[in-house]
Amino acid sequence: MINFKNLVEKYGSPLYIYDFNHFNERFAELRKAFRGNKLLIAYAVKSNSNLSVIKNFAKLGGGADCVSIGEVKRALKAGIEKYRIIFSGVGKSDNEIREAIERDILFINIESEAEMLRIENVAKNLGREARISVRVNPNIDPQTHPYISTGLHENKFGVDIETSKRIYIYAKRSEWLKPVGLHFHIGSQLTKLSPIRDSAEKIGNLLRHLKSLEIDIKFFDVGGGIGVKYCDEVTISPKDYAEAILSVLGNLDVTIILEPGRFLVANGGYFLTSVLYEKKNGNKRFIVVDGAMNDLLRPSLYGAFHDIEFISNKDIDLSEKSSADIVGPICESGDFLAKNRDVPVAISHGDIFVVKSAGAYGFSMSSNYNTRGRVAEIALENGVDRIIRDRETFEDLIALEDKYI
Ligand SMILES: *Cc1c(COP(=O)(O)O)cnc(C)c1O
Repeated sequence: MINFKNLVEKYGSPLYIYDFNHFNERFAELRKAFRGNKLLIAYAVKSNSNLSVIKNFAKLGGGADCVSIGEVKRALKAGIEKYRIIFSGVGKSDNEIREAIERDILFINIESEAEMLRIENVAKNLGREARISVRVNPNIDPQTHPYISTGLHENKFGVDIETSKRIYIYAKRSEWLKPVGLHFHIGSQLTKLSPIRDSAEKIGNLLRHLKSLEIDIKFFDVGGGIGVKYCDEVTISPKDYAEAILSVLGNLDVTIILEPGRFLVANGGYFLTSVLYEKKNGNKRFIVVDGAMNDLLRPSLYGAFHDIEFISNKDIDLSEKSSADIVGPICESGDFLAKNRDVPVAISHGDIFVVKSAGAYGFSMSSNYNTRGRVAEIALENGVDRIIRDRETFEDLIALEDKYI
């Protein structure tokens, strides 16, 4: 049991807490599911970009899936080996492409023909060959929230199978491009296996076709997206996931790359916030807390559900509950952490709400909206807590403006 009360006393509120032991268990589960196969687990840095979190996966032998050059630099800084770093994303600037080639990472994921030509151009100017992979969009409905669905042609991501073939053939002939990987990623928070299996099958067939053209694909990158339990979802087990992918590959000699983000870090993260006060508008009950949408955007952005545990500072009975909205101090009606949630009636100022499964897309999506400093981040490992990012001060927030007034 984590002593949330002590952590708030020690580090203040609001606060993010990460259970590194849980992260390690999830990493080990995935590795075990693919045992006996060549595997690279490339952690999706955007899900939680804290350097200490990345460093923790580096120590386990993980790689990194990055969607900006900033993330590539974070990964390198945290100790991820360059040959385990992938650069993905639908739009990369020439500067980002140049730096990725110079830093000699594993490969750059291409998401359009236009992008391929830019990469070829940059590589040529540098006089260095660029290793590439193509993100193929299998046009399969991942059956998840539309904002985190990426595998349909109506989404902006990847290229269709026919386009990918043209890209591979062009790249094979180019002096400056070396196709080494094949990639798909159909969405996030996937809870059904069949869209993954169908995608793997389609892309696996493409892999065979490319091999028949003597395009030497060494990496079969199946993306991330494995869902986690926020409420009562039934999700995909690593074992079933691995079986679905391995059965498609048969005896093809490739390294499998996974790009999990949420699966590794969501359930091991907690967002702690404290009660400011309660108010009623007519019959509607609101609990105003010190945490807000700038700290944890998922409820506002996706209507996402996070389980919340209520901890009182006083020795009182919390069993009687009534429905309330849990809202933050930000000047937006969309600023809430939960709606129509059963909250103990005895809750009062200073009590702590533990928002669970907040380790992925929590802090990494946070902002300074309303001139609120981003909160501190704390690692928990083997029962010991340590700070891994300071709470931002007012001086931090104005540092880049101050000199101009
Ligand atoms: C966001 C993203 C991931 C990680 O998705 P999760 O749902 O967090 O596992 C992996 N690969 C790519 C290309 C992504 O954009």
